[in-house]
Amino acid sequence: MLDDFKEEQPIAYKIFKNAINKNKLSHAYLIEANGYSKKNELAYAAAKYILCDKHHTNIKEGQACPFCSKSKENQLDIKIIKPEGLIIKKKQMEDLQKEFSTKSIDSNKKIYIIEEADKLNTSSSNAILKFLEEPEEGIIAFLVVDNMYQLLNTIISRCQIVNLQNNEIKNYENTYEKINFLLHEEIDSDLIENTLSFIDYLEKNGISTISHIQRLIGNYLSKENLLKVLDIMTWFYKDCLNLKMNLKIEIYNSFYDKIEEIKNKNEIEILCKKIGTLLDIKENILYNANTSLQLDMLVKKFSEVKI
Ligand SMILES: [Zn+2]
Repeated sequence: MLDDFKEEQPIAYKIFKNAINKNKLSHAYLIEANGYSKKNELAYAAAKYILCDKHHTNIKEGQACPFCSKSKENQLDIKIIKPEGLIIKKKQMEDLQKEFSTKSIDSNKKIYIIEEADKLNTSSSNAILKFLEEPEEGIIAFLVVDNMYQLLNTIISRCQIVNLQNNEIKNYENTYEKINFLLHEEIDSDLIENTLSFIDYLEKNGISTISHIQRLIGNYLSKENLLKVLDIMTWFYKDCLNLKMNLKIEIYNSFYDKIEEIKNKNEIEILCKKIGTLLDIKENILYNANTSLQLDMLVKKFSEVKI
């Protein structure tokens, strides 16, 4: 039930409450989880809250309500889509469309929740876009994703963003501890420092960084290490973006000056594109692309990025 998230995610809670109270439901919500582990449960609770005709929020009311007390499998107006294997296929989106064209049973609205929406491929992304461009009366989309820059800009711009806070991370004092927590292991602080020097060099020298990669992060060219480097970079640019948008720095509180410097050098759109590049490169490496070539590509893309 929605009340379960009142304390942990007060902003998201308020967004959904206001949507009902002020009768301002959006036709698409993009839930950006930022590592919050109960993101899918929150999406489901919000969907139930919207569809219940009494908009119940707590378990006590919910238990007595025929709609809220139904099991997930029996919620015919809430459809949950998860990746089949590594991707969400176009066929899954077509099946959804077919299923949702029949009349709803409990209310006049239906909600579909796409978990791990970063697993949409080109054709399923396009199918979603069609949904979002011509929203059908009463159909609401929930896209759940860890980092919204994993989605196409055209999708992002059509959704109301619900930004979740990763409260678990607040328990850690400095950047090193936070990164260890996020990576689920104790990593060498050299890896973090060298990654930050790499960012520094790359921001100052652009394309010529290619001939210095070996010196800068040559020790971390294994697939396993490079994935960590890319995560550390992604979080860094995400914090630059946070600062740019007057939001709180989440991870790099120990490196405020560095974040501020890069923030001042880059426009919002550029920061978003750089984050997008990092996520693309990470995906390529997960699919076993050559690590050195991917790093060269990263440097190239960072140097060429334009608004
Ligand atoms: Zn209810």
